[in-house]
Amino acid sequence: MTQITTIFFDIGGVILTNGWDRRSRRATIERFELDWEEFTDRHDFVAHDFETGRIDLTEYLRRTVFYRPRPFTQDAFFEAMKAHSAAIEGSLDIVSDLVADGVLLATLNNESRELNEHRIDSFGLRRLFRIFLRSCYLGVKKPEAPIYRLAFHITQRRPEECLFVDDRSLNLECALDEGLAGIRFDSPAGLRAALAERGLLSRSQQA
Ligand SMILES: [Mg+2]
Repeated sequence: MTQITTIFFDIGGVILTNGWDRRSRRATIERFELDWEEFTDRHDFVAHDFETGRIDLTEYLRRTVFYRPRPFTQDAFFEAMKAHSAAIEGSLDIVSDLVADGVLLATLNNESRELNEHRIDSFGLRRLFRIFLRSCYLGVKKPEAPIYRLAFHITQRRPEECLFVDDRSLNLECALDEGLAGIRFDSPAGLRAALAERGLLSRSQQA
């Protein structure tokens, strides 16, 4: 069995809660007393451009919320967006243990730039991950095949020495088509067991 040297991690739903998913969008829209259907129509049109870095936060909000005067500011709305992020208990401990294993850790996540940077800062991800492969900078999203190829090219790793952790089956299926095997995340305990099965987390197990 080829030794795993590199692990690509999804962030939303694995390490942190999802940053701006349907549930957090709905709660924020209700809090500001906006029309959900109208917002969603607009969001659906620009979401891909927002997550692949073609438009920034200001333009996204101009298209979805501030296309007419509002009794609140963009900053207030962004603060409300940020408030939905929380750590998934136990996941960051696993990532810390993998750092001790000496594995190259990279994120591989679909996120818009401003919210992702807030999450990286707030949850100390910079001290754990060496590389941040994000849709907003790569210009492509999971599960599009080029994002997995870029992950190999940027890290200069062969697919067989890499592992991918994600909570969505479709992302894992498409990664596997590119030769990248993965673990579907359902809980920190499940992830820890799946990594141990592959001979990872050896140092933390010895501790
Ligand atoms: Mg996810």
